[in-house]
Amino acid sequence: MLRFLQNYPKAMETIYDAAHSAIKPFARWLKPNGRLEPIMIWGESVGKGAVFDCQMCGQCILHSTGMTCPMTCPKNLRNGPCGGVRTNGHCEVKPDMRCVWTVAYERSLQMPKYGHEFIQIQPPVNRRLEGTASWVNMLAGTDTITPKGWVTPPTDISVERSA
Ligand code: SF4
Repeated sequence: MLRFLQNYPKAMETIYDAAHSAIKPFARWLKPNGRLEPIMIWGESVGKGAVFDCQMCGQCILHSTGMTCPMTCPKNLRNGPCGGVRTNGHCEVKPDMRCVWTVAYERSLQMPKYGHEFIQIQPPVNRRLEGTASWVNMLAGTDTITPKGWVTPPTDISVERSA
């Protein structure tokens, strides 16, 4: 299928940026529960499903995770790997699969624009957005609403990256 495209993270982040700019002017028509949302849901599930194995969490953070969907981690971890990563970099739940976070890290190093976001702490995923369109949620800002009491910790770690 189209999963091989994930191995070109630099190109993917450029496409992400272009899509972001292209969709912004339509913000007023793309509202949660609006008439056009079903089209966006369909587009995301088909397009992002084919390329990223998108699980339709409704809160897309692909550009912050090496253009690698964190929801494809069997444990749905959004902030890096669990303690069970094997020494060969494979998953403890699915031993034949490379850990999603191992791959995400490698890809983020190839992303000059958003690669540094890899170390950002992500808030807990809002399961109520599952099955909705992440582009719509992003334009409406509903994907940035965090649980009461959540404070995003500062990221003061500097990492060396290849541009
Ligand atoms: S982070 Fe969410 S919206 Fe983005 S590709 Fe993964 S499941 Fe889909």
